[in-house]
Amino acid sequence: MSSNKPDLPQGLHLDTLAVRAAVDKTQYGENSEALFITSSFTQPDCETAARRFSGEEEGYIYSRFTNPTVASMEKRLAALEGSEACIGTASCMAAVLLLCMGLLKSGDHVVCSRSVFGSTLKLIGSEFGKFGVQTTFVSQTDPDEWRRAMQPNTKLLFAETPTNPLTEVCDIRLLADIAHSGGAVLAVDNCFCTPALQKPIALGADVVVHSGTKYLDGQGRVIAGALCASEAMVREKFIPVMRSAGMSLSPFNAWVVLKGLETLGIRMEAQSQRALALARWLESHPRVARVYYPGLPSHPQHALAMAQQSGQGGAVVSFDVFGDSPEVGRRNAWHVIDSTQLMSVTANLGDVKTIITQPASTSHGRLTEEQRVAAGIQQHLIRVAVGLEHLDDLKADLSRGLDTL
Ligand SMILES: *Cc1c(COP(=O)(O)O)cnc(C)c1O
Repeated sequence: MSSNKPDLPQGLHLDTLAVRAAVDKTQYGENSEALFITSSFTQPDCETAARRFSGEEEGYIYSRFTNPTVASMEKRLAALEGSEACIGTASCMAAVLLLCMGLLKSGDHVVCSRSVFGSTLKLIGSEFGKFGVQTTFVSQTDPDEWRRAMQPNTKLLFAETPTNPLTEVCDIRLLADIAHSGGAVLAVDNCFCTPALQKPIALGADVVVHSGTKYLDGQGRVIAGALCASEAMVREKFIPVMRSAGMSLSPFNAWVVLKGLETLGIRMEAQSQRALALARWLESHPRVARVYYPGLPSHPQHALAMAQQSGQGGAVVSFDVFGDSPEVGRRNAWHVIDSTQLMSVTANLGDVKTIITQPASTSHGRLTEEQRVAAGIQQHLIRVAVGLEHLDDLKADLSRGLDTL
């Protein structure tokens, strides 16, 4: 864990914090943050070691729970999210695991959007179900369902906005009010927007969940995750679990994310602009049945998204091609995807390389057909995570398949 000490001037903007917030330099004065590849840290003497192990004195001990490179990444991400503290994890799923282990016990109840990331659904619903945590899955967009699902033992509300892949938007401020009036905590997966576009803590959320794998790294190099929260919550709820359970972020992966954060603001802006232009073009294409993008006025939560996401839609655009039956829908979607020559067919997003996937057979392939239909993920749905290639080249790449359907 690392928290923000007032060592930088106050009131700095996100772009500045993204390149400046980190732990202190070493005695060598390196301008680029150092990469501390070491399992452990030597102690000057037994007395100091004892104080550090007991938490009486700050100091690096062992990289499962303390490492300066990981601490720099945590400090930078906390500064961007506007949270007091942050704890890095091996992946976003490790962050969700840490969140649930830290905040829940057998007999507790969770309210979770039905439209969250597939592995999050499985982890909270099925895996934690085995340990006596009960979860009610509710509509992403209907706050009344969240209100009705609240029980006296509800400890956690979990939301993700916009969702993957349909980009449905929920009202963070409203959900925070519902959580707090029931004595529960609101956690928000901010993977799609990142703090460059959306700051859940400022909107009332208690915990921000991150996949560093996506836009924070931004170039598809590492798996990483993090939780941003108050200093008290990180210190009391998450660090003890991290120390025992060890879902730790490796220093190398932390360093890659740390350096990725330096370009977060300009990447999110450039990728969002391309995504909006591509979404508009897709919406006017005769072979496209429907486009899902929060930046389009046709999006059901367009106004909310624009208010909540700094006026930007993000970089993920999903669309339906035509398909009267699941078989035809699947064939058409696969034709468009397999006709691309530039876009990567791969299970990731948030890269500067544009990625195209059919969610029904990939990210949501482990769900039953019933769960998929309930989540609105049909066979004819295609997801594009827009990168930094030239817009005309991206349009030409999609046209290859769309124009030959
Ligand atoms: C990819 C993704 C995750 C999981 O991230 P990992 O770092 O691979 O564990 C969680 N939530 C959302 C919204 C994602 O897109």
